[in-house]
Amino acid sequence: MTLVRLLKDESLVAQWQKFLEEHYKSEIETVALEYPNKRSLYVDYWDIDEIDPKLAELLLNQPYKAVYNAEEALKNIDVASESKLILHFRIKNLPDTNRIIIRNIRANHLGKFMAIDGLVKKRTEVRPKLTVGAFQCSKCGAIIRIEQEEDILKEPSECYEDQGGCGRLSSFKLLPTLSQFIDSQKIEIQENPEGLRGGAQPERISVFLEDDLVGEIAPGDRVIVNGILHSMQRRRGTFRLTSFDKTMDANCIESQELAFEEVDITPEDEKQILKTSKDPDLYNKMKKSIAPTIYGMDIEKEALVLQLFGGLAKNMPDGTRMRGDIHTLFVGDPGTAKSQLLVYLSKLAPRSIYASGKASSAAGLTAAAVRDEFGEGQWTLEAGALVLADMGIACIDEIDKMEESDRSSMHQAMEQQEISVAKAGINATLKSRCSILAAANPKLGRFDEFLPIHEQINMPPALLSRFDLIFSILDKPNRERDTDLASHILRTHKGGELTEQIMRVKKSKHKKKEQEEFMKIVEPIYNPEFLRKYIAYSKRKIFPVMTDEALEILKNYYVDFRSSSEESVTFTPRQLEAFVRLSEASAKIRLSQEVTVNDAKRAIYIIDQYLRRVGMDRETGRFDIDIIATGISHSQHDRMRTLMDIIQRLGNESKDGNATRGDILQEAEIEGLESSKVEEALDRLKRQGQIYEPVHGKYKITEY
Ligand code: ADP
Ligand code: MG
Repeated sequence: MTLVRLLKDESLVAQWQKFLEEHYKSEIETVALEYPNKRSLYVDYWDIDEIDPKLAELLLNQPYKAVYNAEEALKNIDVASESKLILHFRIKNLPDTNRIIIRNIRANHLGKFMAIDGLVKKRTEVRPKLTVGAFQCSKCGAIIRIEQEEDILKEPSECYEDQGGCGRLSSFKLLPTLSQFIDSQKIEIQENPEGLRGGAQPERISVFLEDDLVGEIAPGDRVIVNGILHSMQRRRGTFRLTSFDKTMDANCIESQELAFEEVDITPEDEKQILKTSKDPDLYNKMKKSIAPTIYGMDIEKEALVLQLFGGLAKNMPDGTRMRGDIHTLFVGDPGTAKSQLLVYLSKLAPRSIYASGKASSAAGLTAAAVRDEFGEGQWTLEAGALVLADMGIACIDEIDKMEESDRSSMHQAMEQQEISVAKAGINATLKSRCSILAAANPKLGRFDEFLPIHEQINMPPALLSRFDLIFSILDKPNRERDTDLASHILRTHKGGELTEQIMRVKKSKHKKKEQEEFMKIVEPIYNPEFLRKYIAYSKRKIFPVMTDEALEILKNYYVDFRSSSEESVTFTPRQLEAFVRLSEASAKIRLSQEVTVNDAKRAIYIIDQYLRRVGMDRETGRFDIDIIATGISHSQHDRMRTLMDIIQRLGNESKDGNATRGDILQEAEIEGLESSKVEEALDRLKRQGQIYEPVHGKYKITEY
């Protein structure tokens, strides 16, 4: 922070000294014990306000002066310490009147002590900044020291005699080894998404950190920064312009760790929540409260309720962390309200971000090291959607259009819930403890029930298998459903029309009653605000444990499934974990500290529905998680292995080492394989490079 000598005011120093000696002596002594590792004294604004309201007011309105003199006062306070203390005076807990949303910052806030809250979007490297420059005179060799108070280097204008110089005009050379530096860092804070109204782009502000504040903050962190707002003159080349950029000098950073702590729950709310949790129709009502304007999609909405509550993240003694967040993917036909659902959820859940797979910033979905204007030529670490949604839900639309650079970090982001960036000397691991709700459109425009899912969307199977639930949403004509859907959508619109007319036209012939009648179908049973409170309550208080019976049911289901097809691996342990998370979520909905048999059954039911739609092997009619995990069903796999054997054998028997197409088909038929399936498998083997076609119609195994 730039503090100018002129600010010194002896009476103010005395005032601060009195305050600090009387109320913060023991805190100062605590800091002194760890000095110089700890170099800051944190003072609560309300302590000052209580004892000396005038001083508190001065702090808010003339912060540079107030802080400067407080730091001077700190130097005068006696503590038992070997070295002389030079401490930063930092203020926490600013009053709400001085808390401001970034987009509301105006010229009259400049120079004031303000608090802004938001998300850390970017951060530069920590770099040393000159505080006292040591300059050597080229004429007499004297060392002249100049305090640096601005961003632009200040040189001596002459070789000052009072510093032992020759007094002449001269040229000077900066000697870094004799100069003093302070660590500095620049971060960019972005408005919290909750505060944004419909689709507005979040605004940002640059914040400068110095000394012990640097290095602690990572992109994705939710913070409140208390600091002094000021402006920085824009430059174009060497010209200085009359317009200025808003920036902040940070004085104190408070981090906001828990997302659901931000939701206020009053004792009345608590009563209402506990009463609601006993409702026998709770699950149904919860489901009906999700996006009521969207017709149907019962299973999807039930899954979304489970996702909102989530399972339990677990920390194991060996340091591993098990994800509790549930990841869901919707794949389906265009115009089936996928985007609509995602937007709805992103508004419902705290700390959620809605983003498109098509990257809107250099950081994309994950995170990146970028070199841009912000870093002034240096590398900056920038957070993408999954990091910004830490502790919330990341709603990612059109995830299939994700950038190549995101794909590789996505695996780690989904399972370990971290994203590592190692580039250009930046080595960072950012947290992405969010649950992912994604939507994807099929490659060919429409979803084909008879093709495996990975062939339809542009996503690698390894990534698909990390979703706990994948739902395909088909838009097939069906007279009954279409009638209901059409009636639902049309009535919703009519209800909206009635509302508008009654509100805006004086002599409408329509009545309030009629409007209410139409709006009933889209009225959520629990309104979003209550739902948020309910979820927050559950996340804070409910940590359910599996009963032995529930554990037994999940175990048996898993074992039965795997053994139902002799050698086929239909389920992987990853699916078992999905069962656990979903059953925990089910218990949390009821505010139950126990995962019961019914919770386990609900998890099984949901996964069953999902596998029925996308994980089914079309030929055998069996569930086969291999389709999702590897993109190939077990029966396809078997067939390909048989074919490879045939090609190998025929090749060995023939003169040129090739197996002809006709022979292969013939042999395959003897083995009981259908010729159309064989053609398909040959194609696939060729595409995968396991065989090649040296001459048209002849195949050979690729030797590695
Ligand atoms: P997608 O992202 O799946 O392509 P959108 O979310 O953009 O589809 O939805 C297209 C439009 O169709 C939206 O206005 C949505 O309200 C409407 N719509 C589609 N399906 C339904 C439904 N089941 N109930 C109500 N509206 C629907
Ligand atoms: Mg869409």
